[in-house]
Amino acid sequence: MLHRSTNNLAIKYFRNVAVFVTLGFVFLTCAEVNHEKEKYTKGARWHHYIELINQAVKDYKDCSNENCSCFTSVLKDDFAVWIKKGGITKDDLKAAHSFGVNYQILSHKLFRQEECMFPFRCSGVEHFLLEIIDNLPDMDLVINVKDWPQVYHHQEPLPVFSFSKVADVNWDIMYPAWTFWEGGPAVWPIYPTGLGRWDLQRDIITRAAEAWPWDKKEDKAFFRGSRTSSERDPLILLSRKEPALVDAAYTKNQAWKSNEDTLYQPPASEVKLEDHCKYRYLFNFRGVAASFRLKHLFLCNSTVFHVGNDWLEFFYPALKPWVHYIPVKSDLANVRDLLLFAQQNQDVMKSIANRGRQFIIDHLRLEDVSCYWKQILLKYAELLKAKPVKNKSFKEIKSTL
Ligand code: UDP
Repeated sequence: MLHRSTNNLAIKYFRNVAVFVTLGFVFLTCAEVNHEKEKYTKGARWHHYIELINQAVKDYKDCSNENCSCFTSVLKDDFAVWIKKGGITKDDLKAAHSFGVNYQILSHKLFRQEECMFPFRCSGVEHFLLEIIDNLPDMDLVINVKDWPQVYHHQEPLPVFSFSKVADVNWDIMYPAWTFWEGGPAVWPIYPTGLGRWDLQRDIITRAAEAWPWDKKEDKAFFRGSRTSSERDPLILLSRKEPALVDAAYTKNQAWKSNEDTLYQPPASEVKLEDHCKYRYLFNFRGVAASFRLKHLFLCNSTVFHVGNDWLEFFYPALKPWVHYIPVKSDLANVRDLLLFAQQNQDVMKSIANRGRQFIIDHLRLEDVSCYWKQILLKYAELLKAKPVKNKSFKEIKSTL
């Protein structure tokens, strides 16, 4: 009896163990399959972006600082129309003169018409002209210091220099903006006298980036700025809906009149550029023209999300989508998807952030800016068909340094 009941107990015991082991096995197998499936769907979900990044990185070749060659394609594009026309005539210059501030370079001296609507912008431009003047031949030139370009493709081309344009729309020849030296937008209360010199900002933001390594940064997108273009609205609205994903808000600017200008909410406080480094994903949008902020954002060693690709400054084409930044459609249709991709692919984001920062550090130094000024003015002078005649009403501009 004792023997039979021990047998029964043993059978029951082994049966339970077998059931337990089988359940365990089934459970483990399911978990493994689910894990694999998840891995597959996650991988497949982002496959498209990963492919774009891999391809762009493979195709990218870093450029050389010699003769500021990183920006040569822009120079070629901007002067193509004048090369095709066979040069810039006296009549072209005469027709251009009301579209900007008129300068003359004569015997390595700089002269300008008396009035300049934005004196700090003119002096930001003049800093670079004076720096390179010993290397420049005589010339007349028209420099537009307004925010927007002046000459449209539906008109005859005019030789006008502007800091920003849309390549398919404007004939303007791009020059490095005055803000590299001075005359940048004043933002109250953080930049009451303007954004400040580029070389100094480079140092300030670089130090902030060191204090905010990737692991310390918030895993969020960030934007502060005024409503200079409604293209920024969808990000502000997404931030209101999903604050864990995006922190984006409108600040006041000089044109602020009511909450309509901040999309029906009170204006947010302004945040210095170096404090943007606390966030992993930083947004750049066009404003009235290209926004001056793009170059600063890269210095944080955060990933730059650059919205739209129409509005340019001279250095934009050297920066490549997926290599140096994440390109976002102007209507922001793909922005949420891109941010989820970013959050789930941190190593990829870190690499893009590093490459973007390195490009700006290596190739957008003040000497590269001066170099590009020199290149465009030498090319321009080569195309000029008219010798300048001294305008007696112009005043000489001297270095204040
Ligand atoms: N800016 C800033 N912090 C702010 C708001 C603006 O650093 O809280 C900077 C911004 O990066 C840009 C400049 O101030 O370089 C002007 O920004 P705004 O949005 O007014 O105009 P934008 O030129 O971008 O159209």
